[in-house]
Amino acid sequence: MNTPRRLEANVDGDFYVNTACINCDTCRQLAPDTFSEIGDYSAVTRQPVNQEEKQRTFYALLSCPTGAIGSKDVRGLGEARQLFPLPLTNGIYYCGFTSRKSFGGSSYFLVHPDGNWLIDSPRYFPFLVRKLEKMGGIRYIFLTHRDDVADADKYANHFSAERIIHRLEQSAQPDAEHIIDGMESVEWGKDFRIIPVPGHTRGHMVLLYRNEFLFTGDHLAWDREAGKLDAHKDYCWYSWSAQCDSMKRLLTERFEWILPGHGARVHLRFENMRKAMETLVWEMDK
Ligand code: SF4
Repeated sequence: MNTPRRLEANVDGDFYVNTACINCDTCRQLAPDTFSEIGDYSAVTRQPVNQEEKQRTFYALLSCPTGAIGSKDVRGLGEARQLFPLPLTNGIYYCGFTSRKSFGGSSYFLVHPDGNWLIDSPRYFPFLVRKLEKMGGIRYIFLTHRDDVADADKYANHFSAERIIHRLEQSAQPDAEHIIDGMESVEWGKDFRIIPVPGHTRGHMVLLYRNEFLFTGDHLAWDREAGKLDAHKDYCWYSWSAQCDSMKRLLTERFEWILPGHGARVHLRFENMRKAMETLVWEMDK
């Protein structure tokens, strides 16, 4: 295998991306001022100019699934690492440390009085495992679909956590503890609803938490460049018409946050989220 080399598209300076990049978008989400998409890769198109930007660039370095980001100056890297998982809102954290197995998919840690949840899986990384131990461990691992299970089995073993996956995705985690059958929503305690949304894959599911936070896997995300909700027809492995129907079904649900596996997160007031969802459904139907 060739040794990765620094991409020529990087601007001069400490931070750079090398040819191990798989163009997963993780760095561009975490540090959009530093990284841009250039052809089939990400590159450092502007070096961080202050401490906050440098910290965000270290978040990207730590979260990159292939280790494609480097820096000649690593002062501040240890401090940035200590901040993972990164708090987002209301006891919900972004795990970082993405896995190549899920193409850099985002995973989330949710602190709950009845036991904490992991939504999809990061890389099994001892530092993160210790941090999650200190935060109370994991009771449930919700797996949206087969592509983003990454190291869920290792987390389940370590924390004696119970994995939840749809029957039609079970081949990705054959020994999962809870199997969801059929296409009806499933209430899980008083705060959670599991909603099958076939389309991207046959047994894809989303998780609705407290009628406010929707963990969407690869079903639905925010397009930060276009400033609108998006679903990816080019990456729809099962059925686009089924994905359209599943999107319509979500029009009956109430939520304000979208927390996807791939693509950007977004928080909109309920009325604006409803309008954005209606626009997306209209676009998908065209
Ligand atoms: S996070 Fe890593 S693999 Fe993903 S786009 Fe950035 S440099 Fe490439």
